[in-house]
Amino acid sequence: MGELIQPQKTAEVLQKYKFTFQKKYGQNFLIDSHVMHKIITAAAITKEEFILEIGPGIGTMTQFLCEHARFVTAVEIDQNLIPILHETLSCYPNVNIVNADILKTDIRKLAEEKNNGQPIKVVANLPYYITTPIIMGLFESHVPLTSVTVMVQKEVADRMKAGPGTKDYGALSLAVQYYANPVIAANVPPNCFMPRPKVGSAVICLECHKEPPVQVKDEKLMFDLIRASFNQRRKTLVNGLNNFPNIPLAKEQIQDCITSLGMPCSIRGEMLTLEQFALLTDAVFDRLHG
Ligand code: SAM
Repeated sequence: MGELIQPQKTAEVLQKYKFTFQKKYGQNFLIDSHVMHKIITAAAITKEEFILEIGPGIGTMTQFLCEHARFVTAVEIDQNLIPILHETLSCYPNVNIVNADILKTDIRKLAEEKNNGQPIKVVANLPYYITTPIIMGLFESHVPLTSVTVMVQKEVADRMKAGPGTKDYGALSLAVQYYANPVIAANVPPNCFMPRPKVGSAVICLECHKEPPVQVKDEKLMFDLIRASFNQRRKTLVNGLNNFPNIPLAKEQIQDCITSLGMPCSIRGEMLTLEQFALLTDAVFDRLHG
């Protein structure tokens, strides 16, 4: 087990199948065993658990997941990788390989069928071109989740972890932190992949909350407010919200909501904590619903 992580073994398999990398699928295969161990350790997988792997590539990480978990489902979009996966994973009875686009896969149904609807763990070296839709898709469709341990672009990991008043803080930070506690497990340089990506990477473990850290009257309204606040970063919160079509309040009413929470009218959205966005949401909700 685990030989594929060696660069020469990966090259051998790719050559045997005359595989050509598809840039459009974000194919950068992991070839560093230290990083692999960090991912497996961060995910803290036990023999009782079901794991969803997104984008198994040639199965390098899948082999490690099969060794540690009860069962693994690996969803891969590139049909040219499927025969390779059937060979590299042939000695594991606890895996099924699905040739599909993860963004079109019903993951709730998968969790229902493979894990009796109990929370699942997701582990992946993600295709970077769809990192945000994958992660937000998992959270927003309320897939039962314990954790999501993923390799992402370093800059995206920093944005997920960022707090108020920092340059990286934004809608992604708030969305991720509403659903999970982000912990960066490793920074990963380009030479750990074949081929090398142009950007630095990081492994981030999103430990999902059992209950969100704040309660709001209308979750969708909160995310509309957050998006509106960061849409025009340079503007004040009042102007950001005033220019947003989904928030049909007059400028004075928006100002009232903000000052009623003890914040100045000149405040920018990037200064608000998740708790303050939740309070603002309830204040706006009350105005909208009389
Ligand atoms: N897990 C492998 C590794 O670590 O070596 C490969 C990781 S590579 C960064 C991303 C993988 O995701 C590729 O195998 C790619 O074909 C696959 N992929 C890209 N878009 C996908 C999608 N929409 N659904 C499922 N898999 C996808």
